[in-house]
Amino acid sequence: MKYPKLRELKEAVISFFSPAATVKYPSGPAIIHPRFRGKPQPQDTCIGCGGCVKWCPAGAIKEINDTETGKRKIVWHYDECIMCGECERICTTKDGVKMVPEFELAGFDRELMRAEKECDLLLCEFCGAVISTREHVKWMLEQLGEKQPANLAIFNEKLKALGLTEDTKRKISLDKRDDLFALLCPKCRHRVNIYDSL
Ligand code: SF4
Ligand code: SF4
Repeated sequence: MKYPKLRELKEAVISFFSPAATVKYPSGPAIIHPRFRGKPQPQDTCIGCGGCVKWCPAGAIKEINDTETGKRKIVWHYDECIMCGECERICTTKDGVKMVPEFELAGFDRELMRAEKECDLLLCEFCGAVISTREHVKWMLEQLGEKQPANLAIFNEKLKALGLTEDTKRKISLDKRDDLFALLCPKCRHRVNIYDSL
């Protein structure tokens, strides 16, 4: 009976002379663990593919396509984000968004609680539908390496970007073989392929 009491007494003496286990945050600095997950921060390497938009469990990432300006914005809403880190984990390029240790995100204006990445839209040359972003297609071409010429339309875009071919306006009607070289959305490409196989 007396030994447990002595053990408690020993613990009390040790605790009394030990530094406090708690931290003084917010009056003092917060001690952040190296693997602490704060907010998701988009990086320059984001290609605007929109993969994380579809995956985010909280619906906190929005994709805004503006065909007038030809721009796509990927917007992270910190007021809706649950800091799960899924957008970082499933990112197409692996480093398009990073969880940074910043966590003091409270404020009075929701408009300020966001971060965004802007990319150039790639539109179907025939119907104007959104295909993806130029950065996304360029990234895919880099992954394909020497197999790039397999997709003629996309390869054609690359040659244009390099200034090796002229950016001429084609008359696309979807009923001739030449249209296979046009940059088309899946629906229009299907029509050309069907025509070509008749
Ligand atoms: S951290 Fe999670 S909740 Fe926040 S934006 Fe990324 S996927 Fe969505
Ligand atoms: S590159 Fe990564 S962060 Fe950027 S839109 Fe695609 S999945 Fe999201």
